[in-house]
This record gives sequence, C-alpha cells and structure tokens, in this order.
Amino acid sequence: MTIEKQKFGHTHDGQVVDLYTLINDRGSVVTITNYGGIIVSILVPDRQGVLADVVLGFDSFEGYLTEHPYFGAIIGRYGNRIAGGTFTLQGTEYTLAKNDGDNHLHGGVTGFDKVVWNVEEIASAADEARLTLRYLSSDGEEGYPGNLVVTVGYTFTNDNAVKIEYTATTDRATVLNLTNHSYFNLQGALSGNTVLEHEIMLLADQFTPGGAGLIPTGELRPVQGTPLDFTKPTAIGARIQEHYDQLLAAGGYDQNWVLNKEQASALTLAAKVYEPLSGRVMEVQTTEPGIQFYTGNFLDGSISGKGGVVYQKHAGLCLETQHFPNSPNQPEFPSTVLKPGEEYTQTTIYSFSHQK
Ligand code: BGC
Repeated sequence: MTIEKQKFGHTHDGQVVDLYTLINDRGSVVTITNYGGIIVSILVPDRQGVLADVVLGFDSFEGYLTEHPYFGAIIGRYGNRIAGGTFTLQGTEYTLAKNDGDNHLHGGVTGFDKVVWNVEEIASAADEARLTLRYLSSDGEEGYPGNLVVTVGYTFTNDNAVKIEYTATTDRATVLNLTNHSYFNLQGALSGNTVLEHEIMLLADQFTPGGAGLIPTGELRPVQGTPLDFTKPTAIGARIQEHYDQLLAAGGYDQNWVLNKEQASALTLAAKVYEPLSGRVMEVQTTEPGIQFYTGNFLDGSISGKGGVVYQKHAGLCLETQHFPNSPNQPEFPSTVLKPGEEYTQTTIYSFSHQK
C-alpha cells in the first residue's frame, strides 16, 4: 500500500496544510488533510467495481475554509452539545463558547475541525497505510480545562476499512468526547441524490430523546414502536416524515442511539448501511457507547460541494460514534471525564464492501 503527500493549501494565517493520499492494492483511495483532520474523500467500488467518492466535501482546500457543517472533520473537544455551554467538574464551573444558540456544539468556535494538526507518523506496510495526527489543545482553549494532548490515527487497509484511533491525555481533569463528522452518501457524493433510499440498521434498543435545543433530557427511551427503531434494516426515508416529536424537532434523524453493549468499551458493530442502487455497504464498529445518526437535516442547498453538486437536505448521513451529548451535565450517562494519569482511547472502524 502507498501513502503520498501533496500541498493542499494554506490557512488565512499562512500555515501550509497538506493532503495525504492512501491507496490500497485494490485501487481504493482515502484522502485526509491535517487541517481539522478532515477526511476529504473515500473512493470505494460498487458491485460492478466502479469507484465513487462516498463522502461529502469540497474539491479544493478553499472550500474547507468557508462556513460548512463539519464535513469530514475531527470533532473535539466535545462532540455534540453541552447545555448552556457550562458544566461543573470537581467543584469548579467552566464556561464554554456558546456557538449553537445558548449551547456549546462540537467543541466551540474554533474546534478541532478548524486547527492545523501536526503529522506524527506516515507509515505504509503490505496490508495497510497509516497517518497519525497530533494536536496540543492548551489549558483554557474554548473554555476547557487542562493541556490536552490528542492523537488521531487513520489506518486504511487492503480490505477497504478506515480505522480511526483516538488517544488523549491531560494535565488537569477535563471532559472529552471525540468523533468524526463525515457525511456519507454510498451512491456517491457526485450523485446529487439524498440518502433517503439507503437502508440502515442500528444495533441499539434505546435512544436518548432530545428536548430543547436537541439536547438529551436524560431519559433512555426504547426504540421499539417508534420511527427510531432501526434494529432491522430499514430505508431511511420510510418513516422520516412521521409526526413523531423527535423527528419534527430535528427535521429528520438527529439523535443519539444507545448501543447494545454487553461489555463497555468493547469494539462492536454499531451500524450497517446498504445502498441498493450501487450495492455499496458500510459497517461501523466502535468502542463508544453511543452513536449520533444525523441525516443532514440542516443542509439546505446553500452549499455547493465536489463537482459543483448542491448539497440539498438529506444529501448525506453522519454516524458519529460518541459518548452521549451533554454527559458533563448528566451524571447518569457514561462519564466523559478524563483525569491526569488516565488515557482516553476510542476506536471506530468504517468498513466498505458491496452486495449483489
Ligand atoms: C448534530 C446536528 C448538527 C450537526 C452540525 C450533528 O452532529 O447532531 O444537530 O446540526 O452536527 O452540522
């Protein structure tokens, strides 16, 4: 397998950013930039062997400097929302940036999606190629405590799997919830079609319903009998228009599902997506307890992406493996606290294949 580096562009303050191209022996390709750790493209075959790029984004670096909804990016320090942009940890109240109404979203104004990451490792072997990025988030950044050292390793394999491994350590107690915000369209990002005919299965018997500002209320609700039941493969569009409070509030799917885990932090299958026209399949495995299934409800045709394609509502879907939103204010949820001396780890694998 090979990995190549080329210049991608430079930021407004003149930092050069690169694009890394990982190619496997089957000719499948993943490109990643060290700006925001963004996955720029994933080219994988359909049932006829035809490659298509299955993630939304832009053709050139300049697109990523414009306002966009986190296409492909690493999200940190905290994936999804923290209510009121505030939390209390070890008796101290911390105030974060409010960048989503009254709430904090995806790490704040300048989250991990908008910083230049250092390249720690570029490696290739017979069966895989790997890029490892590193970022030091300083004490107080976006209001969070602790100097946090984060690494994100991307491994692309000969069997078309993209493995993302996150680690972090801190010198003061903090909260942390890292994820990736790729928008997938298995028909291809250039198709211009929505994901409503994709079929999805989520290995989750419960979800955390959202209240005001789409923030979990604390309740764990069974999916059974609701349009959020994806325990059997179901077309995304089959029930998305139903008059169900959660769908109406979010304009589609945008909730956190509670993954069925016998053992916390075990790497287990979380989701499987199938696109009938191309036959492409994506499986998501993760060590995380939750997954945000988001159907691009806020895409509204105002952004033109790769090939000039206009990103309409539901043009892509996100499967953000995560701890639950607003956990710092929900003591019943699995903890997102990281203390000095501990190591945060999270592993998520997006594997691509096809069916007849
Ligand atoms: C959230 C959406 C949000 C989107 C940002 C998703 O992770 O759940 O509510 O609008 O990210 O583009």
